[in-house]
Amino acid sequence: MELENKSILITGASSGIGRAAALLFAAEGADVVLGARRSAELETLAETINQGIGRAVYLAGDVRDERYATALVDLATTAFGGLDAAFNNAGIVGDLAPVADMGLGSWNDVISVNLTAAFLAAKAQIPAMRARGGGSIVFTSSFVGFSNGGLPGMGAYAASKAGLIGLAQSLASDHAAERIRVNALLPGGTVTPAGGEDNPDFMEYIATLHPMKRMASAKEIAQAALFLLSDRSSFMTGSPMIADGGMSVRLI
Ligand code: NAD
Repeated sequence: MELENKSILITGASSGIGRAAALLFAAEGADVVLGARRSAELETLAETINQGIGRAVYLAGDVRDERYATALVDLATTAFGGLDAAFNNAGIVGDLAPVADMGLGSWNDVISVNLTAAFLAAKAQIPAMRARGGGSIVFTSSFVGFSNGGLPGMGAYAASKAGLIGLAQSLASDHAAERIRVNALLPGGTVTPAGGEDNPDFMEYIATLHPMKRMASAKEIAQAALFLLSDRSSFMTGSPMIADGGMSVRLI
């Protein structure tokens, strides 16, 4: 029970990494607050967790909305008495295009969901963690935000994910003395809807780019997030933690 008695907020919980994280964290004793766009998926997941794994509540919304960021924290407080940790994981790949061909709307979509929403999330979460005497925040960045991996058309996505590393480091520096830790998690290719799980040819291509010659399961990435959110990582803050099957060290 790595997360016993911790109240943890997870965004992007309706599928992929966030869903796997919700199930894992609840099984490790956490009370989980589930956020994402799709209410029906969140309701089903909350039911699954509440029927024997642990305790879950949910609220659907858009992470770009500052009121939603606040409402999720308020829900953690009313349902579970406060907020100990947050896995700010919701994200989109967006339109893939060379920057010279990319419209400002496509750029703004990716930056607002992946980066500006993280700013809004932290802004809402820090006071609640301060009231609790400390906490742990994790942003889901990506190997693309560190090494790109030679993937084409990733300008907006890479900028947003690299931005999360800078945001995590700045927050870590500002709040370390308050016992609030902030880290970024950089997954490699992961089998999820956004990772192309419905497109075997694409997944095979991405898998071969990794020195391990496979993609991660969502649960493997959730396990890395569990480490950063738990007290096992108590001396880690401001870290861009890579869990990418060796993608960042490949020699091509
Ligand atoms: P996914 O598509 O299965 O899940 C994305 C989640 O984000 C969904 O729950 C969705 O509802 C939520 N979301 C998207 N936009 C939102 C919005 N505006 N408001 C609220 N919720 C929103 O994808 P995933 O692969 O599980 O992605 C999770 C995170 O992992 C993302 O940040 C993604 O960039 C990152 N990531 C994924 C991979 C990969 O290969 N799958 C690799 C590295 C990083």
